[in-house]
Amino acid sequence: MARDIIARLKDQAATPGRIWLQGDAPVTYADLLAETGRMANALRQFGLVKGDRLLLQVDKCEAVLALYLACLRAGVVFLPVNPGYTVAETMHFLTDADPALAVVDGARVGEIVDKCRKSIGLTDFLETVSQAQEGFSDPVSMPDDLAAILYTSGTTGRSKGVMLSRENLASNAEALVGLWRFTAEDVLLHVLPVFHTHGLFVATNCVLYAGASMIFQRSFAPEAVLAALTETTVMMGVPTFYSRLLADARLTPAACAHVRLFISGSAPLSPATHAEWRARTGHVILERYGMTETNMITSNPYDGPRKAGTVGLPLPGVSVRIAGPEGQPVAAGEAGAIEVMGPNVFGGYWRMPEQTAKEFRDGWFVTGDLGAFDADGYLSILGRAKDLVITGGLNVYPAEVEAAIDDLPGIAASAVIGVPHPDFGEAVVACVVGPVDPEAIRAGLRDRLAGFKIPKRVLVLTELPRNAMGKVQKAELRRVYADLF
Ligand code: AMP
Repeated sequence: MARDIIARLKDQAATPGRIWLQGDAPVTYADLLAETGRMANALRQFGLVKGDRLLLQVDKCEAVLALYLACLRAGVVFLPVNPGYTVAETMHFLTDADPALAVVDGARVGEIVDKCRKSIGLTDFLETVSQAQEGFSDPVSMPDDLAAILYTSGTTGRSKGVMLSRENLASNAEALVGLWRFTAEDVLLHVLPVFHTHGLFVATNCVLYAGASMIFQRSFAPEAVLAALTETTVMMGVPTFYSRLLADARLTPAACAHVRLFISGSAPLSPATHAEWRARTGHVILERYGMTETNMITSNPYDGPRKAGTVGLPLPGVSVRIAGPEGQPVAAGEAGAIEVMGPNVFGGYWRMPEQTAKEFRDGWFVTGDLGAFDADGYLSILGRAKDLVITGGLNVYPAEVEAAIDDLPGIAASAVIGVPHPDFGEAVVACVVGPVDPEAIRAGLRDRLAGFKIPKRVLVLTELPRNAMGKVQKAELRRVYADLF
C-alpha cells in the first residue's frame, strides 16, 4: 500500500519552512495543514460526516486544493465540477451525487439553492473557515475509502461519476514521483484546470507526495507561463499549451534553461509538435497516458528514449494488455482494445453497477481506447474505439492519418473522423486547420498512406471544437458533417 496522501501532507508539514505555494506570500506545508484543519472543522459545522459528498464549482483558485485535502482529512467525498458548466448541466451532478453541501461561486448560490440540500458561496464558506479551529482529529481512514468522484466529460450519453479511492490516488502519486524523479527541490508550474484529474491529482499529488512546491497560475497565458519558467523545474501541460507556446517568439532555449522536465498528456501530442519543441528548446517532451477512471497508466521513461507518438511503458504496478473484440489476446504488435488492471483503477461508476460491470472484463478495465505495443514495449494510442473509422470493411485508425497529415507543411491541427457514406459505409474525412489546399493534402498523403486511409474529403476549418483539456470533440464534428456524402 502506498502512504496515504494526508499522511504525506503531515510528513511535509513537519519540515519547518517547507514551501507548498511559491509567490510573494509563500504558503508553507504547515500553513496548508492548518488551513485544511480549519476547513475540515468547517465541514463538520455544516453537518458533513464521513461519506457525504461536497460539490465544488468555482473558478480556479488556491482554496480548491486546500478544500480537496480538507475533504480527504474529514472523509468527505470531494466532487469538483467544471465552472464552465451551465446550471442545467450541473443539475445532473446535483441529483445524481446528492451532495450534502455545494460550494459555488457567489452568483451561482441563488441559481442552485433549492436544487440541493445546502449551498453556499465560496467567500462565505471561507469566512466560516477563517473562524474555525485548526486542530482537527482526523477520523480513521482505510485505503479503499472513497476519496473523490469525478464526472466523465460525457460527450455521448450521460456523464458518469468515477469513484476514486484514497489508494487509487496515493498509489499513482507514489509511482509518478519515482518515475519522474520528483524531489522537495522541484518547483512545478501549475497552469491546468483543477476540476480534472490532470491538474487536481497528477500535478497536485506529485508535488505534495514529494514535498515540492508549485507556482500556481489561475489560467494558461503564454506571457505569464514564459515568465514563470525561469523559476520552474517541471511543467505539466496539455498539447495545446505546447503548441501555443511554440507560436510565441519568446520561447527559446534560454527561456527553458531552468526546467528539467516538460510533461504532456490528456490528449495526443502530435509528433510534429514533439519535434518542433525539441528543435526550439532542446527539451524532449515526456508524454504520458491516463484517464479519469484509471489515473495514469503509462509514461515515457525519464532516462530512456522518449518516443514521439507513443505514450511509453506501463507504470510500475500497473498492467496493460491489448485485447481483441471478445477480450482474446492479440498477436504481438497488433492493434486492439487497451485494458488496464492495478491499484490505480477506480472502483466503479457512482450508482451505476450495470454500467460498471459492462466496462470491466475478467477484472480488466476496458478503457475504450485502441492501441498497440511496439517491439520495445512502448504503447501507441490509436484513438477512441468509438472514433475508429471502418471504410469499405477496412479499419482506419484516426491517429495514424492525423500523424501523417500533421507532418505536411502548413498544418496547425488535424482531426480525422468517419462519416456515413453510401458506398463505403463510412468515409474518412479530415478536418484541418492551417493555410492549406485540401487537394495538396490528399496528394501529399499518397506516398505516406494506403489509398483506403486517404481522406475522401479534407475540410479546412478555422479551429477544431475542443473541451477544457484541449481534447478535440470528434462527436461534435461527426454530428456537423453527418450529411457530407
Ligand atoms: P479524461 O478521462 O478526460 O482524462 O480522458 C481520458 C482520455 O484522454 C483517454 O481515454 C484517452 O483517449 C485520452 N488521452 C489521455 N492522454 C492521452 C495521450 N497522451 N495520448 C492520446 N490520448 C490521450
